Amino acid sequence: MSGHLTGKQRHRRILWMRAIVFCVLVCLLIVLIVLGVTKVWNDPGEKAASADASEVLSESSEESESSEPIESSESADSSGSSESSKSIESSESYKPSESYESSEPAESSEQPESSEPAESSEQPESSEPAESSKPSESSEEKITWYEDALGRYRYIDPDACDWNLILVNKQNRLAENLDVHTAWYGEEEVDERIYEALRQMLEDGERDSDRRFLVCSGYRTVDLQTYLFERFLGIIKEESPSLTPDEAYLRAASEVAYPGASEHNTGLAVDICAVDFQLLEREFENTSEAKWLKAHCAEYGFILRYPDGREDITGYVYEPWHFRYVGKDAAAEIMERGITLEEYLAERNLP
Ligand SMILES: [Zn+2]
Repeated sequence: MSGHLTGKQRHRRILWMRAIVFCVLVCLLIVLIVLGVTKVWNDPGEKAASADASEVLSESSEESESSEPIESSESADSSGSSESSKSIESSESYKPSESYESSEPAESSEQPESSEPAESSEQPESSEPAESSKPSESSEEKITWYEDALGRYRYIDPDACDWNLILVNKQNRLAENLDVHTAWYGEEEVDERIYEALRQMLEDGERDSDRRFLVCSGYRTVDLQTYLFERFLGIIKEESPSLTPDEAYLRAASEVAYPGASEHNTGLAVDICAVDFQLLEREFENTSEAKWLKAHCAEYGFILRYPDGREDITGYVYEPWHFRYVGKDAAAEIMERGITLEEYLAERNLP
């Protein structure tokens, strides 16, 4: 019996085997399903992880992007602040608000750079020229104006413009002596940067002619100008005791340039007369020397600074002997158009 299976036993054995096979298949299926599910689960997981990663990346890139502006704005800030401090230092008390404005574009990043500088450059440009000639209302906030018998004036910042285009007149004065490096031309001193142009002009003017020039006045310090003015004011007060202080002051200023308001304080202006005519008088214009200078000065970078009939703009009467160095480009235009330095600068929105 034991060696032979009965039909019933065989049938049961077959059932068991089928059950086992079924179980194995089910197990396999479960394993496959589990694997498949795991894979499916893994995929979104991977996607999620990669999304995370990309988010992280994007975040990090955002961070890096956002950090860049921060960095750049920081560096711009720091440079801006240093610039602003520099500009404030350089301009000191003259135009603190302006120098602060001009530092803003540096502080901000790209966008502001494209917009704000334009604003900041426009603003000073549009206001400053107006200041130099006719003080505008907007300039009142930025510039400290003073007033005396000559009218309203401000102290200029010599570092705020090109050295050759510095504007010195009754409304725009030097507060103190400029740091001028001078060279001697005959018995007069001039800014060494104009020496060569002056020498060339006068040599060319004398060549093959009977013209003989004499530089009779050059650089004068503000201190010397003060002494000259005070001395002349004293003489006027002595001679005309009935004048009020303001009247005496105005009369003195009509003859002697007020300290800080004279171009001779810059070293860029010279009074040139003729050896045969050494008076600083209107008649000098009739000399061959004066005519040649007027016709050719621009070729050397000089202008006739106080033309006839422009006293209302320059503040000084006609002086056919007073020449001012401004550089060849500016001189060519000023002399060709017959305009003044004040007008030339105002047209360019220069201080
Ligand atoms: Zn002069």
